[in-house]
Amino acid sequence: MITRCPSCGWPATDPAYPASTHGRVSYVRCVCGVWLVLDAGRVVATAGGPKVG
Ligand SMILES: [Zn+2]
Repeated sequence: MITRCPSCGWPATDPAYPASTHGRVSYVRCVCGVWLVLDAGRVVATAGGPKVG
């Protein structure tokens, strides 16, 4: 079970930004800039990537 950002290790269950929830799927923006897609609290996909520079 992945509950942390695969990029920086930030706990996805403690998002730094308000989560957008649609049913049991949530979209959370990590502190590193990656979008995390959570399904029932588990990270199932990521989008984007860390902003460098
Ligand atoms: Zn991250």
